[in-house]
Amino acid sequence: MKYISTRGGTAPLTFRETVMEGLARDGGLLLPERIPDVSDRLAAWRKLDYVPLACEVMSRFTDLPVPTLHGLVAGSYADFRHAEVTPLVRVGDRYILELFHGPTLAFKDVALQFLGRLFETVLAGTHGEMNILGATSGDTGSAAIHGVRGRRGIRIFILHPKGRVSPVQERQMTSVLDANVFNVAVEGTFDDCQRLVKTVFGDLAFRDRCRLGAVNSINWARVLAQVVYYFYAAFRAMDATGAARVRIAVPTGNFGDIFAGYVAVRMGLPVSRLVLATNENDILTRFFNEGVYSLGAVRATLSPSMDIQVASNFERYLYYAVGEDPARLKALMAAFAATGALRLDPGNESPMVAGSCDRRGTLATIRDLHDRHGYLVDPHTAVGVAVAGRFLDPAEPMICLATAHPAKFPDAIREALGRDLARHPLIEALNGLPTRCDTMPASAETLKTYVAARTAGAPHG
Ligand SMILES: *Cc1c(COP(=O)(O)O)cnc(C)c1O
Repeated sequence: MKYISTRGGTAPLTFRETVMEGLARDGGLLLPERIPDVSDRLAAWRKLDYVPLACEVMSRFTDLPVPTLHGLVAGSYADFRHAEVTPLVRVGDRYILELFHGPTLAFKDVALQFLGRLFETVLAGTHGEMNILGATSGDTGSAAIHGVRGRRGIRIFILHPKGRVSPVQERQMTSVLDANVFNVAVEGTFDDCQRLVKTVFGDLAFRDRCRLGAVNSINWARVLAQVVYYFYAAFRAMDATGAARVRIAVPTGNFGDIFAGYVAVRMGLPVSRLVLATNENDILTRFFNEGVYSLGAVRATLSPSMDIQVASNFERYLYYAVGEDPARLKALMAAFAATGALRLDPGNESPMVAGSCDRRGTLATIRDLHDRHGYLVDPHTAVGVAVAGRFLDPAEPMICLATAHPAKFPDAIREALGRDLARHPLIEALNGLPTRCDTMPASAETLKTYVAARTAGAPHG
């Protein structure tokens, strides 16, 4: 399988090259040159456990030897705290796919546990090294740190705004003491952190000298790892109900997770509706309902991992929406860059439907699931469950993706229920652990000196 850019300006890449590049050199996003149709495999795949299923799905897209891929996948999910990796549980008239049994209790572990091991394997083959630099407002940073801690050939530098990430998320990052992990608290906001990272990546000579890489959600391997659980969940819901098709609701921010679902549908998984759920930051909902993708200001909500304006993976979906035509895609992206808006008729062949849910709806959903079913959801999951309620059909089970464990967001749970009910032993265990973190002013020069001193980019002599 070769990979191409949505903007058509790169020579076809191998899977390994695609993983190491992240973003395409022409500014587009990388995609497989065609998505394989696996309809004739569904009956056989339905009998598989998570790890063998993941190997089947992923081997359609990778150039890794089968035993290597199997080792990566088995290792990635060995530490998940549930034997099924991503179990599907019934809650009232819906099914909840629990994606939060990994080390940081968020669905990002499913992809980043795999990506860390994949980087290590590819680097070992080329005797290379890689220094990951990123900024986080919470979830991604801790999942990335846990994905690469202790891995050979990789160092990771994660910036967070000092005193502005939740205490749980801060401790999940800074309690990782492996020698290849560098936590940096920046005296500034999350925007400052992002600006620093962008400035440092923009210095191409520095970037090459220090072998800088990223783990952001545009990496194809992250999408690929997420495709697997759409198959797993649909199979379990079909087993439980005998239904021939399912619906799946996805709390959405950067569009990485739901795009993985879209890939699964294009591979032939029988999903009649992909329900895109947003919080008050509803740029994507407006696109799917009104055909206009236009920027607004980011608002802070109870579900911070979905507080985005530009959804970094959306270009991948647009590429298919314009009939895989790089010229049309480029014209749309140019219009968006120039005016802050793009227009496209979403069409009616698409499985995508969308809705948003505000703060009141989120809290009411947490309360309702708890009071009626004794089941606790985090505020991101609650957004998905609430919007799913608008698209129910008795003949097709509705699967709602649970993207974080409620214990990661104790404030929202307390606000919804008036009590501290969200607990998890992994989070309690963080209290009192030793931590390591460096503090720095919001200066790109300081950051460069810091990174260079800890990588091969340090000046010699
Ligand atoms: C990242 C995240 C999301 C959004 O996922 P995208 O792939 O960015 O759409 C939803 N919920 C939680 C808990 C997350 O961490």
